[in-house]
Amino acid sequence: MTHYDLIVVGAGLNGLAAAALSARAGRRTLVVEQRATVGGLAAAQTIHPGVNAPGPLHDTGSLATRLLAPLRLESHGLALSNERPALHVLLEDGRRITWSANTADTQAAIARISARDADSFGRYRAFCEAVAPAFQKLLLRPLPARRRDFLPLVPHALAWWRSRAMHELARIAPISAKAFLDQYFETDALKAALAIPALQAAFGGPFAPFGALHILTREALARTQIVDGPSALAAALLSAAMRHGTEVRTQARVTAIRLSPTGAACGVRLASGERLISAHVAAACSPRELFESLLPDRSHRSRFARYAHNPRSRGTTAYLALALGAPAPLLAPFARMAPGVEVLERAFDHIKSGALPRQFALEIATSPDATALSVLVHPVPGKGQIDWTEAARSALKRRVVRQLAPFLPGKIAEALLLTPQDIEAQYRLPGGHLQHIEQAPDQMLVRIAPRYATAITGLDLCGSGAHPGAAAMCAPGALAARAFLSR
Ligand SMILES: Cc1cc2nc3c(=O)[nH]c(=O)nc-3n(C[C@H](O)[C@H](O)[C@H](O)COP(=O)(O)OP(=O)(O)OC[C@H]3O[C@@H](n4cnc5c(N)ncnc54)[C@H](O)[C@@H]3O)c2cc1C
Repeated sequence: MTHYDLIVVGAGLNGLAAAALSARAGRRTLVVEQRATVGGLAAAQTIHPGVNAPGPLHDTGSLATRLLAPLRLESHGLALSNERPALHVLLEDGRRITWSANTADTQAAIARISARDADSFGRYRAFCEAVAPAFQKLLLRPLPARRRDFLPLVPHALAWWRSRAMHELARIAPISAKAFLDQYFETDALKAALAIPALQAAFGGPFAPFGALHILTREALARTQIVDGPSALAAALLSAAMRHGTEVRTQARVTAIRLSPTGAACGVRLASGERLISAHVAAACSPRELFESLLPDRSHRSRFARYAHNPRSRGTTAYLALALGAPAPLLAPFARMAPGVEVLERAFDHIKSGALPRQFALEIATSPDATALSVLVHPVPGKGQIDWTEAARSALKRRVVRQLAPFLPGKIAEALLLTPQDIEAQYRLPGGHLQHIEQAPDQMLVRIAPRYATAITGLDLCGSGAHPGAAAMCAPGALAARAFLSR
């Protein structure tokens, strides 16, 4: 039987990044993935044979390129660009505002709707740029956990102390998406569209605290773009991992982390009953899957147990993939549509009582030829809040298609809906939260495993539930690999 140095549970972007870096350092590495394909949330979804839509992960700009540099992903087919792709903000009356990398062009587009918002946009983008380096410094390194980890941050902290933008950030970070965006913009649909990252990250509407922080995180880390989307990144990571000797097994669900008599991780057991041996296990699945399904109760101990039992992951986003009869160039490559901030807050009130809202915040990514759409629909009732009968599913699809109608080229040929309940089952994400755990400050700043090691010897976290979570693509996997290799 093969003895591995490292077994990684889950072949999403973080699992593949951790595996590739570990194999590159000469460790015998295996990745086990329960789905038939690798890439996790970044992998395309097949609507029907031959028609693929982008997967639930739409972001193409927050890749932790510096941390992945040793893998030389360009030589594995990854194409990067410094040009931000167009993002269309769709209005109910059929108009759209196109945001591009060019501030003047974007201002001209916004000016057709509101001269005041066009003017404010320059200030908005300047503020995002001013605080971006601080986000990058804090998020693209391990969380400081020991006294000596704070030392490298001291010069930055002194510079931030003198920076006006950082003082403003300290004021703004805890406020809601609505309060933050009200300071800049008057057009309701524009504010609602900008608030979407905050809505997807946490359990709450646009009036919930810390929404500003989520919006700024997404803005600040949007840098180098992946030209062909997240699935191209997954393909490049897979290629690099295999080049360095990583073994990859799909349709192999881990049902338990194996523990030695001393309580250390020593491998995994698969659903087939097969047992695999390793010196170390890194879990890129969600922390709740790890702690609630893969570990025996007795392995939860001390301080660790407090967090281990409690991660919150109430997903309120559905994924709808649509195959179109004809291309929808008006939506390519990215679009957002939301009815207004107050309407979204009331929609979230529906969620609390288990009802389906009439209108949603929609985030859309198109396939390269724009004939298939991936639509993230928010908010929808989470698991256990509604009975997802055929009637409820049809109502959701109908309402989304009606909302998007002014921008669709014709009839929908086929639709694939994943409710939070389906997301839980398909990706093994308890609660169906697409970012593994809610990005609430307590869960972001007090991570279960600040330096990736859990309280169980030989068991690390390396997926979106580990620092910096869903903020920077592949950063948890790369930083966890670095921590593992340095021990
Ligand atoms: C709307 C949205 C916006 C986002 N924005 C950003 C962003 O701006 N920046 C960013 O970096 N990230 C963002 N994310 C998060 C993004 O999804 C992650 O960065 C990344 O795709 C997650 O990779 P992962 O490997 O951690 O997890 P996943 O892609 O979830 O992969 C985990 C894998 O583990 C497998 N698995 C689970 N349990 C088992 C088991 N028992 N046995 C075997 N395999 C198992 C699953 O099948 C899955 O393939 C966003 C996500 C969404 C949905």
